[in-house]
Amino acid sequence: MLPVVMYHHINSDDLPLSNSETMMESHLKLISERYTTVFPGHTLLPNAICLTFDDAYFDFYHYVFPLLKKYNLKALLAVPTAYILEDTLIEASKRLSLKHHEIYEGDNYKTYAPFCTYNELREMLKSGYVVIASHSINHINLSDAGVNLKQEILGSKMILEEKLGCRIESFVLPYGKYNADALSLAQEYYPYVFRIGNALNFDWEGLGGVIYRIKGDALKSPHELFGFRKQIAFRFKSLIKILGSIR
Ligand SMILES: [Zn+2]
Repeated sequence: MLPVVMYHHINSDDLPLSNSETMMESHLKLISERYTTVFPGHTLLPNAICLTFDDAYFDFYHYVFPLLKKYNLKALLAVPTAYILEDTLIEASKRLSLKHHEIYEGDNYKTYAPFCTYNELREMLKSGYVVIASHSINHINLSDAGVNLKQEILGSKMILEEKLGCRIESFVLPYGKYNADALSLAQEYYPYVFRIGNALNFDWEGLGGVIYRIKGDALKSPHELFGFRKQIAFRFKSLIKILGSIR
């Protein structure tokens, strides 16, 4: 099975979408001892796991990137391009100071730089520990009426490829929400399309062409996701998804 884990923040006030720095370090240390982290498309050994972080908050660069280097782990970072600045001189403490709900308000993404910058994304990409996914341009629900799907899905890919000088092969559906048009467009332009769903995958094909992710935010213990009960629940969900898609 291929577990793909979804995380968001570190040390945020938004507790359901965050882990503490100490919890994340213990969790990543455990993963480094038991698993081999892979990027989308990599050959899957039996102990493969794919780690994904959504939204490219600056706390990823500040807290997680150093841990990836320390424990020799790989992670996929999903970037909503509208919020990404080229570079910033704003100090780290200010960039980490916003409450979660303030991050997307007005011009805060410019005045506080709470997201990674393109310079930081390039540095992480170059390190070999991080690959970048598109997470749309505006981080909106793609199933809403009136959304310019081609712009959000293909436009974001073109922006990232131009800015970062690499191929962008993964798309992470914002909020895990989509309709048939959004899904087929994402599958047309990206080999790997990710959503939420608390199910395990068998391989990079995912379940019905979408790669499911299990929730790694708000961990109660470093090994919570790997316990027997959780693993059974994730496998059961996979089975339900497969049965649902055969009809
Ligand atoms: Zn997101």
